[in-house]
Amino acid sequence: MSEINELFSRCGIAEQEFTGGTLSVCSPIDGAELARIPERSVAETPAVIARSLAAFKKWRLIPAPVRGELVRLWGEELRAVKTDIGRIVSLEVGKIVEEGLGEVQECIDICDFALGLSRQLYGKTIVSERPGHRIMEQYHPLGPVGVITAFNFPSAVFAWNAALALVCGDPVIFKPSEKAPLSGLATVKALDRAIARFGNRAPDGLVQIMIGRGDIGAALVASPDVALISATGSTRMGRAVGPKVAERFGRRILELGGNNAMIVTPHADLDMALRAILFGAVGTAGQRCTTLRRLIVHGSVKTKLLAKVLAAYETLRIDNPLTAGTLVGPLIDKTAFDQMQSSIEQARAQGGRVLTGGQRVHADRFPEGYYVRPAVIEMPAQTDIVRHETFAPILYVLEYDDFDAAIEMHNDVPQGLSSCIFSNNMREVETFLSASGSDCGMANVNIGPNGAEIGGAFGGEKETGGDRESGSDAWKQYMRRTTNTINFSTELPLAQGITFG
Ligand code: NAD
Repeated sequence: MSEINELFSRCGIAEQEFTGGTLSVCSPIDGAELARIPERSVAETPAVIARSLAAFKKWRLIPAPVRGELVRLWGEELRAVKTDIGRIVSLEVGKIVEEGLGEVQECIDICDFALGLSRQLYGKTIVSERPGHRIMEQYHPLGPVGVITAFNFPSAVFAWNAALALVCGDPVIFKPSEKAPLSGLATVKALDRAIARFGNRAPDGLVQIMIGRGDIGAALVASPDVALISATGSTRMGRAVGPKVAERFGRRILELGGNNAMIVTPHADLDMALRAILFGAVGTAGQRCTTLRRLIVHGSVKTKLLAKVLAAYETLRIDNPLTAGTLVGPLIDKTAFDQMQSSIEQARAQGGRVLTGGQRVHADRFPEGYYVRPAVIEMPAQTDIVRHETFAPILYVLEYDDFDAAIEMHNDVPQGLSSCIFSNNMREVETFLSASGSDCGMANVNIGPNGAEIGGAFGGEKETGGDRESGSDAWKQYMRRTTNTINFSTELPLAQGITFG
């Protein structure tokens, strides 16, 4: 049996699920075909949604702490196959081994989080202005949740959504990226095993996966029976999805593109900044939504910092992501490579100076794999191309002299996902975090923009979508709130002191 077939078998993926289909999934490592998956069709969507609705009617009646037991079991199942799913992530998306494992660890972490949450779906008790009255809030299950994911977090983003949805009492319909459905399928299989152990308290159709293209996502988006659409991907996709969900007054969580920056001030620890720049800009070959794309550095430290950055870029090991020591694996496909080349050309035309990188490497060893040397481009100003998210390892360097102007430049992009400052100056740091500072959903100090923990709410402003998922109180979006006023007196006083009749 080949390595991939052994992996599939250990993850519970049956042969007919990865052979004989129409969706060819190729590894970005070398272009080798990993699977030919039978695709689901749009015509099947109504039946899938109907099953999900039927499951909802049962699942919402199971007490939340009991629902939590299911995600606890899911966490156990994920721990048992962590290295296998991590390997599938590496094969399918090209992440280095450590990052593939880290992705599965995120799934495990969110299961732990959701288990605790299952006993903490708190509403408030509110004092009433009327005697003998009490006001309270309750959170109730919402309905089927459609989860549409991007290729670059093929396992974790599903888990972030599904773990919360399940404890909140919602069934899940999962539409993975057509570029990376295998990691998602393996993650669902672990959940299927947890459901089998959980027993018949879990209704049929509680979790369903629909592998296919964007049209399946669009069918979920259009259905008024899918109460919440959680869609992760490009701003282009979000522009199509957002208005469609709004048209039917549905709920949505949009997690779209980022254009994340780091401000390095004269008060920064440059060695720490350097390490954060490296992981931030070249990790996952620049294919994280939170990848560092803009370095806004004070003129007084620019030369020194850039020298360190360029020296470190020289030593980057770009290679097969499965090989120990590799730091940069391949881009997902040729389209991503072409987009990177086009952006570099545009940057040059807009006055940019390529300081290093941009070229394809290992084309002889991997004619079907798109490995690139990460690029650093010095820009005279924040031009159009800098304001655009190119999903590849390009780091634009911009200089500033005045701190307020640096923040203005930082915020002057359409996206608003993640951001950071490197400074040991309290005034600079607090200003960056204040109302007049970074306008992003995530703003960090002395760490890079990426590698978020699941405990915080994840998401961004402006064209990133404005929504949050994962930790903190993101769970509230998976539930509906009712405000209940209870009169335990023998009178019927009206609010605002109104007398009526
Ligand atoms: P993509 O937009 O091409 O595809 C994402 C998903 O949307 C896929 O499953 C696709 O089938 C589906 N889709 C496409 N058109 C659709 C439509 N009209 N209706 C419903 N579904 C549709 O994105 P990608 O190339 O897979 O991922 C890269 C992008 O994702 C980057 O822009 C990155 O920043 C973003 N991303 C954002 C986050 C975040 O949390 N903010 C996380 C990961 C990735």
